[in-house]
This record gives sequence, structure tokens and C-alpha cells, in this order.
Amino acid sequence: MDIQTLIRPTVKALAPYTSARDDFDQIGAKMTFLDANENPFDTTVNRYPNVQPFQLINKLAALKQVSPNQILLGNGSDEVLDLIVRAFCEPGIDNVITLPPTYGMYKVLAAINNIENRAVLLNRNFQPNISAILQAADSHSKVLFLCSPNNPTGNVFSVKNVLELLQKFKGLVVIDEAYIDFSSQESWLNAIDDYPNLIITQTMSKAYGMAGIRIGVCYASKEIIEVLNKIKAPYNVNVLSIYKALEKLTNIATLKKEVAKIKEGSTFLIEEMQSIPFIKKIYPTEANFILVKVDNAAKRYQQLLEHKIVVRDRSSQPLCNNCLRITVGTQTQNKQLVKLLKKLEL
Ligand SMILES: *Cc1c(COP(=O)(O)O)cnc(C)c1O
Repeated sequence: MDIQTLIRPTVKALAPYTSARDDFDQIGAKMTFLDANENPFDTTVNRYPNVQPFQLINKLAALKQVSPNQILLGNGSDEVLDLIVRAFCEPGIDNVITLPPTYGMYKVLAAINNIENRAVLLNRNFQPNISAILQAADSHSKVLFLCSPNNPTGNVFSVKNVLELLQKFKGLVVIDEAYIDFSSQESWLNAIDDYPNLIITQTMSKAYGMAGIRIGVCYASKEIIEVLNKIKAPYNVNVLSIYKALEKLTNIATLKKEVAKIKEGSTFLIEEMQSIPFIKKIYPTEANFILVKVDNAAKRYQQLLEHKIVVRDRSSQPLCNNCLRITVGTQTQNKQLVKLLKKLEL
């Protein structure tokens, strides 16, 4: 597949942004920087970040065993998703394919950019409907968004299904792996060398426990990363976030312990919720949340709220009638939730 033919003509014509700082590592370097109109008095944040925060990029590259030029960092993965849409989809002409019920941002990004969203519902078992997707696609279908594990359903898409889409879809396939650290299925990262149209997005917002610092990561071929780099804001990831992320990545053991605890919490909640009469169905999950079908989602949502517990009512999503999405909390929070659920009247 020729990625060049997928790029918006305006983006293709752009020269990459160059900053005076591109070539220098200001952190620890003995240079005298009089080039960027910064205040020279050291506060640890008086300098601009690198256009490519390569310390963090290199660390992730080593951790994930990809090349640094296959990585782009964003202000959350939401920014990465936005860059993908803006780099490849021509407003008013191109379209994207999304598979509801899924993460709402794909649709929003398409709408903001005046890109048609072709929604192809997941099957009853929340797997992609391959033939319907391929049928919905045309030569203007630039991006197919796969969210696996999927939000809000919690399941992963089967390897067979994803492979078939990677082979048959003629545009970019974005696999949003925001929840991959909770999953028993392996990341699709290893496949980026085999599929030039594959883009993986991950985030530090969920398992890494750093939603506040807004760091999202895009993994793809060098060719795709170069395109996205052309249109990203030069200093899109700030210095404080980079420090925090680097600190977190030096302590993967803690991260793994937290993920293990969250998975235990998930098992606990699923077990306990089996006996709640108004919970009609508990969907299997490979993420840090559980989708449950209840008798009356609006009513149960309100009852929980009255007891100061906030969950997400996903009833407005197709196939999610009367469904609540519950994030796994700490052991104390999970117990508090179960105790309340058991107390609520029928
Ligand atoms: C939470 C979430 C994101 C957003 O990640 P940020 O990095 O915080 O922007 C992306 N995709 C899915 C599926 C999510 O649930």
C-alpha cells in the first residue's frame, strides 16, 4: 500500500516545521541558548521543550522495542487521533469508518473536520462486522478506527478479524490500545513493520495512572510518523509532563502491581455483581471497566449518584440499551460499590 496516496494534498505539500532547537538537547547541554526569546533565569521550566521529546521517545522505543522514528507523542492520544484525521482526511470529501458502540472521540473528530463518519455497528458479540465494513468502504475511506480493548464494551477484537481488516481495508487502520495493559491479548505493536497502513495509539492516561499529564503515544511506520510530525504543534508535549512520564517509566514494577490489583478488583466486582438481581448481564472485560446491563440504567445511575458514586450511563450507544459502564476502583471503592448495589431495592 502506498501511504503517500492517502495523504491530504495540502499536507503532502507542507515542508516539515523546523525549530532552532531541533538539533540540540538543551537539558544538560553546555550551550548558551540565545535563540528562542526565553527568560534565561533557570526555573527548570524556563526553556521550551524539545520539538521531539527524544528522552521520552527513546525510553518508549526501548521499552516497546520499536525504532524512535516509529513514535510520535501527543497531548493525550486524543491529539494523536486528531492529527491522523487532519493529515489524511480531506474535509467534505473523505470519510472515516467507526464501529459503534465505541469511543466517542472518533466521531467528534470527524465532525469537527467535516469528515463523513460511516458507522458500521459491531456484531452482537461486539466483534467487527467485516463484510459490512468492507462494503461501507470506498476509495475515500481513509481511516478505520478499531478500539481494542473496546470502550465501552471491554472486549478485544479477535486476531483473525483484525488481520483480515489489515489485509483488506485500503486505508489506514488505527488500533486504539488505550486499555491494552489490562488485556490478556498482546499489543499489535509488533505488526507495524508488516503493515504499512497500521497505526497504534496508546496512552499514559489509563494503566499508567497519568491522565492529568496528557501523554498519548502513536506508533506507526516512519513514513506515517513523518507525516504526522509535519502538522503537529511544535511544542505539543510540555516539560513537566515529560519529566513525570520519564519518572513513571523508571518504575514499571509499580505499574505492573497496580494493573494486577485493578484486575483483581475487576474479578471481585464481576463475582459480587452476579448476585445483584437488577443486573441482567455482565459483559466480559479485558479493560479496567465493566459494562453491565441493568433493569433501568437511568434509575440505577441516579441511585448511585445519590450515594455519591458516579458511573457512566452508556444507554445512548447502540447495542448498549440500559448499560452502565463501571470503572474498577480501589478495593475500598469496589467494596463500597458492591455494598450499595446489594442494598438498593428492586
Ligand atoms: C480514554 C481513552 C482515550 C483517551 O486517551 P488520552 O490519552 O487521555 O487522550 C483514547 N481512546 C480510548 C478508547 C479511551 O478510552
